[in-house]
Amino acid sequence: MDSQQQFKRRFSFEFFPPKTEQGKEKLQAVRDQLAEVTPDFFSVTFGAGGSTRDRTIDTVLSLQQQGISTAPHLSCVGGTREEIGELLDLYKQHGINRIVALRGDLPSGMGASGELRYANELVEFIREHSGDTFNLEVAAYPEFHPQARSAEEDLQNFARKVKAGANSAITQYFFNADSYFYFIDRLEKMDVTVPVVPGIMPIVNFSSLVRFSDMCGAEIPRWIRKQLEAYGDDTDSIRKFGEEVVTDMCEKLLKAGAPGLHFYTLNQAQPSLNIWKNLGINENERISF
Ligand code: FAD
Repeated sequence: MDSQQQFKRRFSFEFFPPKTEQGKEKLQAVRDQLAEVTPDFFSVTFGAGGSTRDRTIDTVLSLQQQGISTAPHLSCVGGTREEIGELLDLYKQHGINRIVALRGDLPSGMGASGELRYANELVEFIREHSGDTFNLEVAAYPEFHPQARSAEEDLQNFARKVKAGANSAITQYFFNADSYFYFIDRLEKMDVTVPVVPGIMPIVNFSSLVRFSDMCGAEIPRWIRKQLEAYGDDTDSIRKFGEEVVTDMCEKLLKAGAPGLHFYTLNQAQPSLNIWKNLGINENERISF
């Protein structure tokens, strides 16, 4: 973990772009609550193939205008260089200075894969098109990407993104801190030393967590799964246990030198805020990278 301890910590919250007016109002209230703890930035997801393009832009610009730096996610799958270039220009015009650059996953049956096949090609294209305008974040997978041919190749593919110009990374969520420590160790051995910020998923709903984890290749350890199962419909107990487990893991990560945390809020304030407060995150020990 030596490579990570040299960085100051940074804390961020991720949202998805709401579909309805009601969703927008809810996100505004969530934003206001989370803004009180002055995170370093917010980020907003992007539906692969451009399915949320306009909603992502609207949400990003609205959040950015309200004073907290906001990073759009941008996925290349299904898009053309021209479309991506236009989006980059628009973000630059509005003073956006950070982008989460991803390949994305096209829903099955949805057209061709586009001109850029992998995230390293997107990073390369953004650097060609926009120079150093943006701080580029990429995705990292301590438990390895579900489509990776091998753990080794996945690490090499991560290194390609850094070589192409990524400044830092945010991980897929995990519930096993050792997978993160091992991942960092392997990167250090490859001389890849960019900040890798753990992505944190608060536990609020068991069935959707299982569904999502199966899809994205995140493992729910047996002892956590069994305990959550035992709570059945008792959502209060699920949240309380989830908060305890995730807080403990975050404590362990920060103590070992993780350079911050990125919360997958699912557009809810309280689960992430509770963990934040349990951790007693110090306002004075902030970024920037
Ligand atoms: P890549 O880094 O391109 O990797 C994808 C797979 O291809 C891996 O198995 C890798 O080993 C392999 N690979 C990579 N490069 C090469 C290469 N050059 N040659 C051969 N194989 C290669 N999805 C969305 O649709 N919208 C979002 O907003 C979004 N936000 C995310 C935020 C975070 C922090 C994370 C961790 C994930 C997010 N995702 C999002 C999910 C992500 O898009 C998927 O996990 C997707 O399957 C992979 O994207 P990637 O950028 O990691 O791809």
